[in-house]
Amino acid sequence: MLNQLVLVLNCGSSSLKFSIINPNNGKKFLFGIVDSLLLPKSRVIWTNNSIQHKHFLNEKTSHIMALNFVFKKILKKEVKLFQSIVAIGHRVVHGGEKLKKSVLIDTKVINHIEEASCFAPLHNPINICGIKTTLNLLPNLSEKNVAVFDTAFHQTMPETSYLYAIPYFYYSNYNIRRYGAHGISHQYITYQTAKILNKSSVSLNIISCHLGNGASVAAICRGLCVDTSMGLTPLEGLVMGTRSGDIDPAIIFFMNNKLGISIQEIYKILTLDSGLLGLNGKSSDLRYAENKYYFDKNSKRSIDVFCHRLAKYIAGYTALMEDRLDAVVFTGGIGENSVLVRELTLSRLSLLGIKVDVKRNLQVRSGLCGFINIEGTTPVLVIPSNEDLIIAQETISLINKINE
Ligand code: ADP
Repeated sequence: MLNQLVLVLNCGSSSLKFSIINPNNGKKFLFGIVDSLLLPKSRVIWTNNSIQHKHFLNEKTSHIMALNFVFKKILKKEVKLFQSIVAIGHRVVHGGEKLKKSVLIDTKVINHIEEASCFAPLHNPINICGIKTTLNLLPNLSEKNVAVFDTAFHQTMPETSYLYAIPYFYYSNYNIRRYGAHGISHQYITYQTAKILNKSSVSLNIISCHLGNGASVAAICRGLCVDTSMGLTPLEGLVMGTRSGDIDPAIIFFMNNKLGISIQEIYKILTLDSGLLGLNGKSSDLRYAENKYYFDKNSKRSIDVFCHRLAKYIAGYTALMEDRLDAVVFTGGIGENSVLVRELTLSRLSLLGIKVDVKRNLQVRSGLCGFINIEGTTPVLVIPSNEDLIIAQETISLINKINE
């Protein structure tokens, strides 16, 4: 029987991802994506009963149009599946200071998400649009919508990690602090690593590296996040596809005062023109630089800076692990697939007892999960991320609590 299924919605800046999932065992009955939103042609790809379907929307598709298509043309046609949906979990990027864990959505929650939009202007407004459209399209489930935040997992960071060393006043009056992101993925990695190592997550000490187009590292001690590389916004930390990650803030004043570049333009440079793209001048896609690493100096440079920064973070986070490090874990498109990035990063960490097994490293990719360290050395794992499962589990556990 199909009961207690959760519809998971991830309304991103240029895509809408959706899945219908059993939160108890992670089985996905239907999943898909509408991509290239707001561009002249959007594509919808979805899989149902192991069959992939494709459809093109020949017009500039907004998030509202995409949701309408998904609900009316895909979900409602799967009558049995549709009737089994008991709750909807929405991924929301930033919860700000007020929303510290998953919550049932009501008007007050929507207002708080709106307030936190100043910290995630590209994401929160779109998340709200997804929530409001869903409330309109599925009124019978309007009291069963849950927001799951990318910032929530990082709420356990101590103030030594989340405070910036700027006048305290800016934190106490304006909530300027480090919030982190990718929390749902780091939470899944914690849960899954505990399972693989056969440990309880409350005694787990790991460093989780989520390396996708956006990238972040989290130091997780006794199952709780104690530090993470993203900050007030996802701009801080690692080198990313197009984001600079850490820079000396004085660069901004130099660009503005000496080079006459406007603050708006500098923001664009740091978020859209930097990172791998900025360093190699050609592509934000790691695969581009990886393919040319051994004969194109620009590609080599971009990957070397990426791995150097990542190794520095991993090494730094070992200082937060108390008595031991149980594992370093790689996830995200780059973490799950790039043999080169893993090799170059881990080879910088041999002082910490981390040693990569070349053969295992080559084998574990394309959705596989496994160890890539030499046996007897610090465990290094590759685990494909599954954020939908965490969203579905958080959603159903809140709904069940309310029904109790
Ligand atoms: P997002 O942050 O957009 O969810 P992903 O997790 O999908 O990003 O990761 C995208 C990154 O993963 C890109 O830089 C891409 O080049 C890289 N990637 C995807 N597949 C591979 C692969 N087979 N080998 C190396 N890198 C890969």
